[in-house]
Amino acid sequence: MSTPRRFLLENAATLVTMNAGREVLADGWVAARDGLITAVGNGPVPAVVDGAPSADFARYDARGCVVLPGLVNTHHHLYQTRTRAWRGAVDSELFPWLRTLYPVWARLDDDAFHRAAVVGCRELLRSGCTLTTDHHYLFPRAASPHLLDVVIDAALQTGIRFHPTRGSMSRSVKDGGLPPDDVVQDADTILADCERVISRWHDPRPGAAVRVALAPCSPFSVDPDLMRRTAELARRHGVRLHTHLAETRDENAYCLRMYGCRPLDFLESVGWLGPDVWLAHGIWFADDEIARLGRAGTGIAHCPSSNMRLGSGICRVRDLRGAGSPVGLAVDGSASNDSSNLLAELRQTLLLHRVLGGASAMTVQEVLEMATIDGARCLGREDAGAIAPGRACDLAVFDLAAIGYDGADDPVAALLLCHPEPARATIVGGRVVYERDA
Ligand SMILES: [Zn+2]
Repeated sequence: MSTPRRFLLENAATLVTMNAGREVLADGWVAARDGLITAVGNGPVPAVVDGAPSADFARYDARGCVVLPGLVNTHHHLYQTRTRAWRGAVDSELFPWLRTLYPVWARLDDDAFHRAAVVGCRELLRSGCTLTTDHHYLFPRAASPHLLDVVIDAALQTGIRFHPTRGSMSRSVKDGGLPPDDVVQDADTILADCERVISRWHDPRPGAAVRVALAPCSPFSVDPDLMRRTAELARRHGVRLHTHLAETRDENAYCLRMYGCRPLDFLESVGWLGPDVWLAHGIWFADDEIARLGRAGTGIAHCPSSNMRLGSGICRVRDLRGAGSPVGLAVDGSASNDSSNLLAELRQTLLLHRVLGGASAMTVQEVLEMATIDGARCLGREDAGAIAPGRACDLAVFDLAAIGYDGADDPVAALLLCHPEPARATIVGGRVVYERDA
């Protein structure tokens, strides 16, 4: 048996645990064994922690820093990092933006997908994100038939904890969908690769580096039969389901025309309204639809920058949370954000919702909960999102001496109210995987 790998972060000026009591500790420390937290405390570190001399631990000194649970990104399209600020789509709404970009994305090759994933994940880590999903639904003819493996290899190379989704598109223009014919696949090819990806990569154990979900792209790019068969496959293997829903009014009109119902009715009709599902955007829900989502426990990935950039609308975050839906935060793909800075997304969330309802319409605490513990709930990661025994030792360390935080009074609020600074360190499973240059 190998020796347990022990890690200790100490001297954190402020340790935001997001545990059940939402404790915030001054002079905090966190101990971990084999990547999972074993003890959390404050004041001097005991001579013996978790049965071992604390002097034997690999240590990280967080003096002068605020330490958060690693931020959780609940929606992304890493490949879009190759097509940021794309000429011809800079002032477009979603449907024309997609029609401009589909043919560009169809020409991406394996090297482009690999590079995009490395860049996107490094950017996320730099902003304190330790766990990200990737909604990968694009499988160009020229790319590897096992393209998701290329993306997963790239993400793991950066040290981030990864929750990729095997996405899909099956309905092209000739069948009434939005994507061109050369970027869709048939249902049997899609489902066979879903099965392959789950068996190769999905790890249900606590602290897993990779878990997989299945993710048909949207109501306007897949057919109902694929939605149903994907849900059956996911539930057979105990993996989660993800898709885009209710992002734009164009999508409402499409669903009414194509299915004779609204997007949420479509979702329910294919067996998707459940606690093992999280949806990207969720903007255009009516009151009764929000109540249905809440009763079902279906999660929402809120993507404020992308929604503002494409002029899509504003997700009713507080209503959804009040109804019982976990709401996480997300950067969305890098062709509609056009960055992967998750800390910046916390700030956007705070500011966007205050525009609507005044300064009390969104609090710093609510945003922090969405970015950590509730994002982890969206992904079904009961082992992430908080600094507590049994959870993964995923930590985001922010230095209050950084110029952008100089003069700040409330150290936690400063992370959202001040312009985002890169993390000083980002720790995944008790390993420092990103460190800011001095
Ligand atoms: Zn998206």
